[in-house]
Amino acid sequence: MSEATPDDTRRLAGRCMCGAVQYSVADAFIYAANCHCPDCRRATGSAFKPFAGIEREKLAVTKGADQLLIFGGEKNHDARYQSCGSFLYSVVRDGAFVHVTLGSLADEPTIGPSEHIFVGSKASWFTIDDDLPQYDRHVADGPPINR
Ligand SMILES: [Zn+2]
Repeated sequence: MSEATPDDTRRLAGRCMCGAVQYSVADAFIYAANCHCPDCRRATGSAFKPFAGIEREKLAVTKGADQLLIFGGEKNHDARYQSCGSFLYSVVRDGAFVHVTLGSLADEPTIGPSEHIFVGSKASWFTIDDDLPQYDRHVADGPPINR
């Protein structure tokens, strides 16, 4: 892993599966995690959602913005491409931040997930086999449960 610090000037490209929607985001994520909550599992159809958080204005949809499927309200929603269905990002924290799905990035971000969150509600059939800290809920809700 690189020791580089997040960089506002470096841009990362991301896109949906078919390429109709494309976005550009600063490589300046403030945090990144794997979320095991039931909503993230259903939204991704997977064991957990790897995502990274950044101020909303640092993400720009560069293609297909008028073809997004928005699930939720103006200040809290999930955004997908309406045709191929790829989950691209969520607008969160009263509209101030976006959580970019790391799987939709085409370029490599400087930071990757540094913890597992909502492990208290993770899928029973999935075993976490890395050494990252595991939190019962949010990081702010208490110390890691695995150390
Ligand atoms: Zn979640």
